[in-house]
Amino acid sequence: MLQKYYLANLYTEQSNQRLATLQSALKPAYPAIVNSFYNELLNDENARKFLDNDLVETRLTKELGRWMEQTLSPKDAQQAQELVGIQRHVGEVHARINVPMSIVDSAMMMVKTGCFKALLEGLEDRNEVYDAVLLVNSILESSLSLINEAFLQGLVENERNAQSFRTNISSHELVLEVERVRTDLFNWLSETTLDLMSGTVVRAGTLSHADFALWITHKLDLVCDQSHICDKIKLLLKEAEAVLQNQQINSPRELCLLLNKNVNDIAWQLSEIARSLSQMTERTDPLTQLIDRKYLPPVIQKETRLAMMGQPAYAVIMLDIDHFKAINDQYGHHTGDIVLSHVGGMLRKTVRISDYCFRYGGEEFLVLLPECDTTQAHKIAENIRISLQSNPIIVEDNQCIKLSASLGIAPFTGHPDFMETIKAADEALYDAKRQGRNTTVISKVCCDLRSPSAVTM
Ligand code: GH3
Ligand code: MG
Ligand code: MG
Repeated sequence: MLQKYYLANLYTEQSNQRLATLQSALKPAYPAIVNSFYNELLNDENARKFLDNDLVETRLTKELGRWMEQTLSPKDAQQAQELVGIQRHVGEVHARINVPMSIVDSAMMMVKTGCFKALLEGLEDRNEVYDAVLLVNSILESSLSLINEAFLQGLVENERNAQSFRTNISSHELVLEVERVRTDLFNWLSETTLDLMSGTVVRAGTLSHADFALWITHKLDLVCDQSHICDKIKLLLKEAEAVLQNQQINSPRELCLLLNKNVNDIAWQLSEIARSLSQMTERTDPLTQLIDRKYLPPVIQKETRLAMMGQPAYAVIMLDIDHFKAINDQYGHHTGDIVLSHVGGMLRKTVRISDYCFRYGGEEFLVLLPECDTTQAHKIAENIRISLQSNPIIVEDNQCIKLSASLGIAPFTGHPDFMETIKAADEALYDAKRQGRNTTVISKVCCDLRSPSAVTM
């Protein structure tokens, strides 16, 4: 019974005829609806977090106009089915951006009010207005419920992925990573102690930009599910920063003692994390030992949120092995697998500990670089490319396989939907392929100028 209210079933012959006659009243009203819609959203403190003026001006106004035109025009059965897919896609994008459902609901109220007003003003006959409002209302309501349904499914999926991120990455890998962070931390302490004792002023920035500090800011929560430990470590890091900011108050010896205490406390907490991780049951390591792409959304969503809040933005590198099919064809699939595993190991060795390496597809990899400007991302990408090129793989029978890869880099584009940044990196990667492979290309998509770390090259 309820099926008659499903969006795909609303475009009956009669409704299509009615929609056709309504176009002359609705279409001229769309630009004004779109305008007032975004003005209201940009004036709302809650909603503004998800949008900025440039984005609204360059993209979203066009998209909303097209969406209304598409949703409120006659459709045959196939077009109606396609529209269901479009509405679900809108909900999925909202889940990626994490737009609260209340904002989407209020936005839909604004669209409805604008359409109803246009119908009242544009149609003469009262009965006609009544039928038209009823029809437009049902179409918009059914669209909204599809959008919200897809949004909720997306949120549940994200949460599930965030939770299984910890359990599905090999705990052995995580323990090694925590150990690297501890080593980095102690190295920093020895260097800083030497500097302080020799009378050099140590800038507080040297701490917050150290690799271990980036790891604590960006990765700790995903590795450790005990929020009290994470909070404690972050607090200790802040305290250490405060010590460096007030160097004039203490003597060098006192400064070193204070830092030493904080660093040791952080290291102790980290070893607690490593201990509890090593007690977890080991999972089978995937071929490349990298993170599965299904865990990308919770990680990149968190980074996008931080960047939207004004923190230094992230960059994405997409890497695709050149002519990999030929390696499979010449040496067999098993050797192809060895090559993939070699590339995985090489990637992990080359990036910073605060970076994330994902196996994105068969022989495609994605590296997410938190707090990384284009120049630094380019340096890391080139290190990866050169290291792959200069380390051929020796397989059975002493055969030497030469490797190369093409890489695309995109800085955070400023768009709240992280897929836009990934798409930009992907396009840069395909430019690299077109330019003859074994090269790195930086995306042409303009990055967000608000971000101080954004550099165009
Ligand atoms: P290009 O330089 O344009 O990237 O060419 P290519 O040959 O690398 O790319 P193409 O997309 O044509 O081929 C990719 C191949 O990777 C096809 C697929 O069989 C192979 N592949 C995908 N996943 C795996 C895997 O897990 N193991 C092995 N051995 N091969 C894989
Ligand atoms: Mg390839
Ligand atoms: Mg490929």
